[in-house]
Amino acid sequence: MKANEIKVFCPATIANISCGFDVLGVALDAVGDEMTVRKIEEKGIKITKLIGQDLPMETHKNVAGVAGLALLLASDYDGGFEIEINKKIKPGSGIGSSAASSAGAVWAMNHLLGNPFQSTELVRFAMEGERLASDVAHADNVAPALFGGFTLVRSYEPLDIVPIPAPADLFATIIHPQIEIKTSDSRKILKTTISMETGIKQWGNVGGLIAGLFMEDYDLIGRSLVDHIVEPIRSILIPGFDEVKKASLKAGALGAGISGSGPSIFALSKGNETALKVADAMKKVYEQIGIDYEIHVSKINMDGVRPI
Ligand code: ADP
Repeated sequence: MKANEIKVFCPATIANISCGFDVLGVALDAVGDEMTVRKIEEKGIKITKLIGQDLPMETHKNVAGVAGLALLLASDYDGGFEIEINKKIKPGSGIGSSAASSAGAVWAMNHLLGNPFQSTELVRFAMEGERLASDVAHADNVAPALFGGFTLVRSYEPLDIVPIPAPADLFATIIHPQIEIKTSDSRKILKTTISMETGIKQWGNVGGLIAGLFMEDYDLIGRSLVDHIVEPIRSILIPGFDEVKKASLKAGALGAGISGSGPSIFALSKGNETALKVADAMKKVYEQIGIDYEIHVSKINMDGVRPI
């Protein structure tokens, strides 16, 4: 590999982890895009190749271009970059397809420039890509894609990202029913206020989940994977959600919920073997309903974007 070029793996991510709506995300190991980023003399960013999915290649319409431009604008480098994307994560699946491209682009560019920017600055640049994808500059997919492991967005203003460790034996199962839910619809149906009683239950679970991850207490993780606010409303948009969740828990999952804004459903399990059993249980539900699906079983990715 030449010094002016790098190829990277850009992980898929689960955001909105149960109680952690908009603040908790985790990176996956078994699913991700590949990108090659190359320094060029010409200023600006060009997407020269995009395979795997039908997405715009114009710099301003592709999240990799937009995130990359945010980095370029902040740097004193007076050249540009060429980007090739091998897109393996389907857009709109709920596992951070746009975030993978945004994070991969800024990580690779920072590397080629000799790492002038810190991780939190990279999150900020990548968030500009997210703004293009969903009108809102979320950090809960791009942060784990860049840092690896679990991440907590403790605050957006100022941006404060806290890396959270994951127990070594924690595995994710993600099923993507092949149906379309518009992100705008899944946002629109949410209420804008919650009661004090609901808030108390929710922040108890967020604290419990973080403590469980630090203490490697799988039971506590499982007890805390509960969402009193978003899941009861959004799950109505996902056919078979209740059945998939019930079947996952019966197969031994610690907990399950909506991945991102759906329609993917995730479950976390202790051990690969259980995660595979959960996958079988999830598949059965959609086979009975007659909806096609894609399924992934993955350990937690502790590196984030990495050279390949
Ligand atoms: P999800 O998180 O549900 O997988 P995304 O956040 O990936 O969904 O949003 C996908 C949106 O972003 C689509 O409208 C897609 O056209 C747009 N988009 C632009 N550039 C990219 C890219 N490089 N990768 C993925 N989606 C992109």
